[in-house]
Amino acid sequence: FAQELEKIKKIGAQTEDGERISVCVNIGKPSDLKGYEEEKLDGVGLFRSEFLYSSKSVKPSFDEQVKAYREAIEKASPDAVTIRTLDIGGDKRLDYLDMKDEENPFLGNRGIRLCLKNEEIFAEQLKAILVAARGYTAKIMLPMITSISEIKKARAVLDKVKKELDAQDTEYADKILVGIMIETPASAIMADSFAKHSDFFSVGTNDLVQYITASDRGNADVEELYNPYHPAVINMLSNVIKAGERHGIEVSVCGDLASNTEFTKLLLGLGLKKFSVPLPVAGRIKHKISHTDGTSARALAKRVLGAEDENEIKNIILRG
Ligand code: PEP
Ligand code: MG
Repeated sequence: FAQELEKIKKIGAQTEDGERISVCVNIGKPSDLKGYEEEKLDGVGLFRSEFLYSSKSVKPSFDEQVKAYREAIEKASPDAVTIRTLDIGGDKRLDYLDMKDEENPFLGNRGIRLCLKNEEIFAEQLKAILVAARGYTAKIMLPMITSISEIKKARAVLDKVKKELDAQDTEYADKILVGIMIETPASAIMADSFAKHSDFFSVGTNDLVQYITASDRGNADVEELYNPYHPAVINMLSNVIKAGERHGIEVSVCGDLASNTEFTKLLLGLGLKKFSVPLPVAGRIKHKISHTDGTSARALAKRVLGAEDENEIKNIILRG
């Protein structure tokens, strides 16, 4: 196994029948890319930008932000880095933001909602991403999207930022892609419509499972209900992947489900072409992909989509 892993490190992931699959990494800070160049990987699928904002009691400066994004972009080059805009709220708070106490913080002011209410901070982050990506493609990912109007508003802020940079004659990204996290039932159900307004999707299964099953991802009392084998979760994944195919946009999974080898075959069978996982598990996922046959994976996905009960689904998946 160790020997095989060593061999797989050097080549891009592909299924047993030769289909190339992307395996990207999730990072929380640029130093998480340590060792990236030693493996054949396909870029950063999720750069959680929260670390910049939560590590100090004051807002990060524009230059600090540019430096961190640039470092990640240069380390991963020539592969692309997907930078997720600030996803605070829920259980994460910031002293310098006006955040009220909420009865249900996970259903409250978090992610893109908070950013659109604090437009200056959001605009500054977008500007830092654009400047950091000069000479490259900027891949911007918006978290907690539930409505197309949020994408439109975020794009309007981005347009304003671009105009400012143009007026200042500041160099910025050659190309800009704006994608969204699919992590709410609203966006997963309406994936076909959301695809028309997005350059790519990335499924955040950690939150998606929580919102679909109405069970808090951090509450041990409802741990059994927080179940990724739930048919509603798998149907939503299938719907999102199909919507991406229909609209010709890239779909990845960056939540924990992508790192769980029990799900690799099913995800491939549902048509997933891009996984994003923490760097230390990337080798294991590539190994699992290399031992999966596409036809058999599609047959598994069909059986799973025909099942009604999470226990039955788990059994089908575990039997392979
Ligand atoms: C997710 O929700 O699956 C996700 C990747 O985002 P986070 O874990 O940062 O909420
Ligand atoms: Mg999330």
